[in-house]
Amino acid sequence: MMTDLAKPRLDWTNTLFLGFSHLMALGGVYWLIFHWSWPIFLGAVAWFGMCGLSITGGYHRLFSHPTYKAIWPLRMFYLLFGAASVQNSALKWSADHRIHHKFADQERDPYNINRGFWWAHIGWVLCQAPSKVDLSIVSDLQKDRLVMSQHNHYVWWAVMGGAILPALVGWAFGDPIGGVLVIGFLRLVVQWHATFSINSVAHSIGSQPYDTESTSRDSWITAILTLGEGYHNFHHRFQGDYRNGVRWYHLDPTKWFVYSMSKVGVTRDLRRVSQEVIDRAKESVRKQDKNPTAA
Ligand SMILES: [Zn+2]
Ligand SMILES: [Zn+2]
Repeated sequence: MMTDLAKPRLDWTNTLFLGFSHLMALGGVYWLIFHWSWPIFLGAVAWFGMCGLSITGGYHRLFSHPTYKAIWPLRMFYLLFGAASVQNSALKWSADHRIHHKFADQERDPYNINRGFWWAHIGWVLCQAPSKVDLSIVSDLQKDRLVMSQHNHYVWWAVMGGAILPALVGWAFGDPIGGVLVIGFLRLVVQWHATFSINSVAHSIGSQPYDTESTSRDSWITAILTLGEGYHNFHHRFQGDYRNGVRWYHLDPTKWFVYSMSKVGVTRDLRRVSQEVIDRAKESVRKQDKNPTAA
């Protein structure tokens, strides 16, 4: 409940940047309507895919939860397009995320859903963190030179991947302004809300087949824009598994990407929980549903 927690204070840098980016994204919508260009539109879709994959396959399933290993060019790709997603360095993102799992739905959870849907979605980004994040929770990542380089020079990586490269792509097709507005900012804002929806929607709407201890939910609807992260209930129960959508028909493009890359030696040591353990978790939730007092 809000009353138990310190009163949140706005972080002006984040608030002004998010506000500015949303205005620029509106400019991107205007630009698309009045200066339509297929290369710019497809460039934005491609950037959305690469940045999205870098958050889900990189920041989340490789750095936050080491569920597989990847060769350095792929880690480099994740770090560049992860920075272009402007969601902090991989080190800081992973620290917040590991704390989210460790203290899910509790006061120390940075995006605690019990503080309200909008707090979990965007409020926590707009407000100052209650205390400095303890990076000891990501001491393993501090040994990765690429991760530390991105962390120490994060703003430059973000400007390069989020604005300069989009401008160059636009320029190559005769439309640098479209590159910045559409590939840069419109893509960025859509992507933010896709990622934010995992902390808000995926903790509010959907089913709980594997875990009733946290508010996490499974839903294919949230999986669409987040490249598979919507199967969040499975993920909270089995965070060491590289899959979020565990069944073959679950919409989880990140899983398909990581698996395909393992076939050509780019990723390896993919971690999976055995089907028997998964079935047992499901069965125990089913029993709880039939007899809630025994839970
Ligand atoms: Zn969660
Ligand atoms: Zn996670």
